Amino acid sequence: FHDRDGHIWFDGAIVPWREAQIHVLTHGLHYASCVFEGERIYNGVIFRSRDHALRLRRSAELLGFDIPYSVAQIEEAKREVCRVAGLTDGYLRPVAWRGSEMMGVAAQQNKIHLAIACWEWPSYFTPEARMQGISLEIARWRRPAPDTAPTEAKAAGLYMICTLSKHEAERNGRQDALMLDYRGYVAEATGANLFMVKDGVIHTPIPDCFLNGITRQTVIELARRRGYTVLERHFMLDELAAATEIFLTGSAAEVTPVSRIGDWTYRPGDICRTLMADYSDLVNGRLVLAAVA
Ligand code: PMP
Repeated sequence: FHDRDGHIWFDGAIVPWREAQIHVLTHGLHYASCVFEGERIYNGVIFRSRDHALRLRRSAELLGFDIPYSVAQIEEAKREVCRVAGLTDGYLRPVAWRGSEMMGVAAQQNKIHLAIACWEWPSYFTPEARMQGISLEIARWRRPAPDTAPTEAKAAGLYMICTLSKHEAERNGRQDALMLDYRGYVAEATGANLFMVKDGVIHTPIPDCFLNGITRQTVIELARRRGYTVLERHFMLDELAAATEIFLTGSAAEVTPVSRIGDWTYRPGDICRTLMADYSDLVNGRLVLAAVA
């Protein structure tokens, strides 16, 4: 991935893709003092760009550092890197981290870096996989408590749990993992939030120890606009047995149906299909929500 043509916005300048490099003694690499975003551009418009920039800055703040660019500057940098790439539909990856001046757990004075890459990424899951729904394994790693880690942050360190879980799921022939939280409640997939439908009502876990995804918030809005009841509540794994539809939401995953969790099977139903279509209309500007400016 590092060896390709293109450009990356790096600390205020556009640099050739292959030259966007950092030192091995980078604090962010050793101690995970690193936060990032994942977002999409559709028809030349970055979806909820300001919300992603705000979350990036907030994630850094939760890790005790300040990104030396304002929300407006981050937004402009994102537009610039897409412009240079000629990208109107794709994925953006802003990442901010502590640099390499000092090596050790404490590195308060290390420079804070920001880089933004973008590339074409039609769908997180292949179209075939998406229509069939994806298969999840129940992870043995759990989302930690909010007093164990800054769980509101989109922090690189928290993704160790996700990579472990997803790799194990893939080794067992599944596409992703479903993680429970420290209490045993259903939490989320490794890069997306989870929804289930039961008796025509939509249920989704309360995001009190994992990301309250921007897509999750958008999809709740879209569902309520359709007149569906959306309940945010804690529930255990066994409740998923009686669900009629399950789907995931995320900037990369968009709205993706789930066909299997452990030994339980599901089929994408009307609610999932409706929300997939509404989400597509919204991100492509065919639908406007007052709350999602
Ligand atoms: N949970 C995790 C662990 C994620 O990585 C993501 C993707 N950022 C989400 C949830 C969904 O968040 P969003 O809808 O803001 O992309």
